[in-house]
This record gives sequence, C-alpha cells and structure tokens, in this order.
Amino acid sequence: MYCPFCNADDTKVIDSRLIREGNQTRRRRECPNCKERFTTYETAELTLPRVIKRDGRRVPFSEEKLRAGMLRALEKRPVSTEQVETAIARIVRKAMTSGDREIPSAQIGEWVMEELHQLDQVAYVRFASVYRCFQDIDEFHREIRRLTQHAKRKKSNLTRKP
Ligand SMILES: [Zn+2]
Repeated sequence: MYCPFCNADDTKVIDSRLIREGNQTRRRRECPNCKERFTTYETAELTLPRVIKRDGRRVPFSEEKLRAGMLRALEKRPVSTEQVETAIARIVRKAMTSGDREIPSAQIGEWVMEELHQLDQVAYVRFASVYRCFQDIDEFHREIRRLTQHAKRKKSNLTRKP
C-alpha cells in the first residue's frame, strides 16, 4: 500500500479491526518514511460474476439452476447428495475466483461436465448430449421443465377421478 502523502511504496499496518457493516476491514497504517498515519478499508471481491448467455443477454449466476441441471442429469444415479454439493461448491468457487465480472454460460456448462465426468459416466453423457446440443444451460432447463410438466400432466390424466 502506497503512502498517499509521500508515495513511499511500503506502509505499515498498526491496527486492523473488523467493521461489521459491509464486511469491511479497517486498517490503520503508518508510513515509515514520512510518519503520516491514515486509514484504509478493504473488502473482499467475492461476488459471483454475471452469466453471458449465447444471445448476449446477461443474467445473474444462479446456484439453484446449476443444482437443478446437475440433479436432473444425476436422477436415479448412485451419487450422494454430499458429492453433488461438493461438486456444486467447486463450480461456484471457480466462478467466484475467476476474477471476471462476467462469464459465458458455456464456461459453466464445461465446468458441470468436468464434475459429472468425475462423478458418474451416465450423468455425464446425459448432460453432455443435452447440453452440447442446446449449447445454453437455460435452454436446457426449459426443455427439462417442459418434459417434466409433460410427464406430470400424463400422470394426472391417469389418476384423475371422474
Ligand atoms: Zn509517507
């Protein structure tokens, strides 16, 4: 941290304390060169990037959509919830630490495929075949939703009482 008074390129932290509001860390610094004291505030930039869809629209990163897509591919597969959650956490961390403010939806799809490849080959193939074809995770979800609703309708028709 440069000294704002004399531009010396190193200053010493003399007091660090957490300020609860806004998750900020306040640091009291002193410049060993000119002896001036000043305060800095630090916040970690760990916000999730926005997702760039194929048509160029920007949408918020959705962990729920990510989970829904993976669980759909993993339906009736011998993979524990804990394994799935660990994989999701890894993808979210990748997105957070990418340092980019925006990431293409195709990148998230690739990360999902990497994780599924490790977890379960059948789920991987299911996801890859659908996702690669749609090339867009939202389009994938819409299709899944359509199929699910169709299945529900069929079921309710069968169970409907006169
Ligand atoms: Zn200074």
